[in-house]
Amino acid sequence: MIRSQQGLFGKFGGRFVPEILLPTLLELEETFMTLREDGAFWQEYLTLTQQFSGRPTPLTPCHRLSGQIGGARIWLKREDLNHSGAHKINNVLGQGLLVQRMGKKRVIAETGAGQHGLATAIMAARLGLRATIYMGADDIERQYSNVFWMRQLGADVVPVSTGARTLKEAMDEALRDWAANSENTHYVLGTACGPAPFPELVTYFQSVIGQELRAQARAAFGHDPDAIVACVGGGSNAMGVFAPYIDCTEVKLIGVEAGGHSLEAGEHSVRLKAGIAHAGIAQGFKTLFLQNADGQLGHTHSIAAGLDYVGVSPIIAHLSQSGRLTADSATDEEVLAAFRRLLQTEGIIPALESSHALAGGFRHAARMNPDQNLVINLSGRGDKDIFNVARAFPQPEWTAFLRRELERQPESTSPAGESSHEAV
Ligand SMILES: *Cc1c(COP(=O)(O)O)cnc(C)c1O
Repeated sequence: MIRSQQGLFGKFGGRFVPEILLPTLLELEETFMTLREDGAFWQEYLTLTQQFSGRPTPLTPCHRLSGQIGGARIWLKREDLNHSGAHKINNVLGQGLLVQRMGKKRVIAETGAGQHGLATAIMAARLGLRATIYMGADDIERQYSNVFWMRQLGADVVPVSTGARTLKEAMDEALRDWAANSENTHYVLGTACGPAPFPELVTYFQSVIGQELRAQARAAFGHDPDAIVACVGGGSNAMGVFAPYIDCTEVKLIGVEAGGHSLEAGEHSVRLKAGIAHAGIAQGFKTLFLQNADGQLGHTHSIAAGLDYVGVSPIIAHLSQSGRLTADSATDEEVLAAFRRLLQTEGIIPALESSHALAGGFRHAARMNPDQNLVINLSGRGDKDIFNVARAFPQPEWTAFLRRELERQPESTSPAGESSHEAV
């Protein structure tokens, strides 16, 4: 399992925050350290995910797909079948229980494309907490359906109109709120990034994915998988499925980043490949950030909003540099091909984020033997990606409605600092 040395994973991680937030982070860390030794707390978490989010999610064999690709047997860990359609709900439910244990009554979050905000609003409604979701004013315009549901769920969605009116400003606003209200308020971070203890905390809750997989793989084919593949945005679904396998060195762990259009600066979100991103400190922690020569955070692009991020989990950065994790990337074009292939051979609509893991996974499976097993973590479902997919696969018979929506929906490219550590 993952244990930091004082919040550090090798040379990455740490806690670089304004003085005023330190006691709050230390309180969170102490609560987390205590609860993680408490079996009853984990059981309470499992029960909530089972009763509310449909866990355990299935491990689905892909017979037709494996036959087509002709290498290892391919299996999907179905996080797309969670309530709200992705793995994000796992982390959010866990943090909700933590909030209850700390006796706090209110949660805040920032969100870019709205998925993390929606998951947080759902958790808050279920657990009886008040929720405030900070969102850039421009993102609110773009993500009207997520905003609509957050408000219906009773969350207070606060538009942030300063600066570029997107995620970076929303994050600043959320931190200001937290610093002022930390006594009764918890900041729900959406991925395995940020200051300690968040990377470890988020990994802990998401590790439910890998723990289920261990038992399911043994039941299905009698041993651990030969390889596990996950997409890497901030790194939470990847850490969740990898966590129980870190010390099983015979299991190959493959993380797939957003190769975007190309490896030109601003055209991708590849941080783990040597020489592209550099170690730096931003957003409260140290990791590999895409940055220019002056250390300014760089521009990123991905067809999948959830992978469009300048930094990466400090745990993933460490595992990559230490050689435990194999980093790969898939271009937008490869992702769309993999997306379509899964749709048409297995009848599953994957998220574009997850389709990065598919593209990388198909490539690796083809090089493996038919008696080997490769598991792809299918982090989410693709219903939300209708406009990006429609743009990529134009059809003459489109209705006027879809055309009109496509004109309204801008492409997903993030200028510097707009990208999210949860991003969708
Ligand atoms: C948010 C999201 C991701 C990326 O986040 P990680 O923290 O890297 O897991 C991946 N897939 C889906 C479906 C998402 O919603």
